[in-house]
Amino acid sequence: MIQKAKGTYDIYGDYGKRLLYVEELIEGLMEKYNYEYFRTPIFESSSLFHRGVGDTTDIVTKETYDFKDRGDRDLTLRPEGTAGIVRSYIENKMYGNHNIPVKAWYYGPMFRYERPQSGRYREFYQFGVEAFGSSDALMDAEIISIPVNLYKLLGLKGIKVNINTLGDNESRNNYRNALIEYFKPYINDLCEDCQERYNKNPLRILDCKVDHNLDVMKNAPRTIDYLNETSKEHFENVKKYLDSMNIDYEINTNLVRGLDYYTHTVFEVEASVEGFGSQNVLCGGGRYDNLVETLDGPKTSGVGFAMGMERLMTALEYENVEMPLIDGIDCYVIPMSENEKDYAMHICGDLRLNGFITEIDYNNRNLKNNFKNADKFNSKFIIIIGEQEKDSGILTIKNNGAKEEYKISHDELIDFLDENMGE
Ligand code: ATP
Ligand code: MG
Repeated sequence: MIQKAKGTYDIYGDYGKRLLYVEELIEGLMEKYNYEYFRTPIFESSSLFHRGVGDTTDIVTKETYDFKDRGDRDLTLRPEGTAGIVRSYIENKMYGNHNIPVKAWYYGPMFRYERPQSGRYREFYQFGVEAFGSSDALMDAEIISIPVNLYKLLGLKGIKVNINTLGDNESRNNYRNALIEYFKPYINDLCEDCQERYNKNPLRILDCKVDHNLDVMKNAPRTIDYLNETSKEHFENVKKYLDSMNIDYEINTNLVRGLDYYTHTVFEVEASVEGFGSQNVLCGGGRYDNLVETLDGPKTSGVGFAMGMERLMTALEYENVEMPLIDGIDCYVIPMSENEKDYAMHICGDLRLNGFITEIDYNNRNLKNNFKNADKFNSKFIIIIGEQEKDSGILTIKNNGAKEEYKISHDELIDFLDENMGE
């Protein structure tokens, strides 16, 4: 038997229903925030991710699915969504022909060659947003408010918002130099990856999953002590706007996030539900004012986040969050014999187009088994089509709850159901 590839999973049943509910909520929320739906390709030129996500991130050095196509092109399955959206923003010249800021949202599969474990897959889904063209702290605060409000709408309570700032380029450079000085005597105590990070991107040492408990990490210099005035003011404003929206957050001075491109605000939302496990970061993001330029676009501010859907679904499950899922169907249609199947099919079509969830017996069951089957579907009504019903157009309808039987003409069927469905 062929099995699914390692690190992938199938969706069906109730999980599928719950996921669709969450997806619809996301879509509705993005409409209210007035974000534009983007869909970019699942594979892109490998160089996009090398330059966009950064050559020192784990994602790019160890986790990409790279391949050559039959035309010998180097392609990569996207490990994240931002680089593709930025490419699209630049390639479609949105800086010149769109409302500014351009507010984009996306949803889709991402691919990373990681060690599969709970909350970590090789194919996983992200919902994310990116906003281009505003350097105002309003935008940072708006972006942070999106996941917070989504969790609120869903009824997910156990969350914690962590924020930090890296400051602008000048502040970030000062901080970088301070880190280089600070870690110099300890370099041999750090893991191999961190020794490499020390040379390429020392900020990322703070993001290390191996060394994060070392004392040398806990006492490391903090970004907020290296901010220039502009960067301080920006961060103060982000906090002010979050306060004004009643969003609780904590400042976590070690938060730097895994990607190379962040400036100013970085944030993560954690699930704080008991027993959730170590993969508890539900979403993360921040400001990236250098990225568009790095990918050959005009200098453009950007800010965004990405949210892992699998971890969100797990958090919802852990908190037993209820969802208003549809349980049961409206109509179950029974053709009594071969002769009535065409008419029964015609009625099914009418019902479905008029908004009723409808099943038909596809398996030539006898009447008794059909009633059982209708019960399994939890159908509100059963419509029986025999020879007489077909000839006269007067249908026999059973109300499965009240156990009453009605004779209703085909013309009046939809009105009848509209009036009686609520019972
Ligand atoms: P982590 O520190 O958990 O590896 P990350 O920093 O690599 O996360 P991002 O690239 O910021 O994660 O992606 C945003 C979100 O996507 C994460 O917070 C997480 O919810 C989700 N995510 C990342 N990698 C995976 C994965 N392999 N499987 C499932 N979800 C993932
Ligand atoms: Mg990761």
